[in-house]
Amino acid sequence: HSKQQGRNTYSFFTEKMSQDLSRRLLLEEHMRHALEQGEFEVYYQPQFMIDSNELIGAEALLRWHNKTLGTVSPSEFIPLAESNGEIVAIGKYVLQSAIAQIKTWQSAYDRPLKVAVNLSPRQFKDRTLIADIRKYIQQSQIPTSLLELEITEGVLLSADEELKDSLNDLHQLGLVISMDDFGTGYSSLNYLRQYPFDILKIDQSFIADLSTSQAADDLVNSIITMSHSLGIRVVAEGIETLSQLKILQSYQCDIGQGFLLGEPMTSEDFEHSIGIKSVKYTQS
Ligand code: C2E
Ligand code: MG
Ligand code: MG
Ligand code: MG
Repeated sequence: HSKQQGRNTYSFFTEKMSQDLSRRLLLEEHMRHALEQGEFEVYYQPQFMIDSNELIGAEALLRWHNKTLGTVSPSEFIPLAESNGEIVAIGKYVLQSAIAQIKTWQSAYDRPLKVAVNLSPRQFKDRTLIADIRKYIQQSQIPTSLLELEITEGVLLSADEELKDSLNDLHQLGLVISMDDFGTGYSSLNYLRQYPFDILKIDQSFIADLSTSQAADDLVNSIITMSHSLGIRVVAEGIETLSQLKILQSYQCDIGQGFLLGEPMTSEDFEHSIGIKSVKYTQS
């Protein structure tokens, strides 16, 4: 019986694995030309102060539009780009787009708008990342406080002293450093002590659980209280309902992001929604 079961399991896995492999190969094939073909587009999801509803900026979220594949989700292509190294070039494109956007909004909008960029572990292995960030900022002359870097625990897991120094340097320069997906890893609390985080983003799974139990609510409340006592501001991501927003407001959560407040959108739609004329095509 066990032999029979073993064989079924084996054939099940090979079929699934070969499907995964061909999808992977297909994506990799198309990814190779995606940057030069201009298939990547940075979307922007707005972030608001929870107490005043003031718009303070956006998170940059990458989209890949491909003729054959349609629009591919970053949760599918980012891990792939991480493993084949493409993320290094793609990441530079995202950083440059975000910085150009900051500069554009700076002259078109009456209040400063910050942009948060996600950085993944592989990008930090490339030692030119930090130098590139410095170079882009210098060239664009944007205030450093308008660029936020979101890093997950994955970046810090393999961190050495050099990375620690680099993050401290960027923080010293005035960039905003935030910990993404807080609460999903093993050592988030430990990293809060070791790195210069300005912002903590509570993972959306905790926000989804709000008002399902007292324990779920208490947990979010405690994360916010703890962060504030460390001088760290808190972003709640994945806010989808008014009742979630109200609970977060009562806990004095600083910043909100989620479909309720605004979905990730093109820069044109973003500009349209905040009432500034699209500047992309009027620049010459
Ligand atoms: P993340 O950084 O945690 O981004 C938040 C994700 O939650 C985004 O998914 C966003 O669209 C989604 N989201 C926002 N509000 C809501 C909501 O109310 N409900 C729900 N259910 N989801 C919401 P997205 O855009 O698919 O990105 C997925 C992940 O891919 C990101 O998670 C980030 O880890 C990664 N990613 C995206 N863009 C980049 C990039 O430019 N570079 C790198 N390295 N990673 C990126
Ligand atoms: Mg993020
Ligand atoms: Mg997140
Ligand atoms: Mg995530």
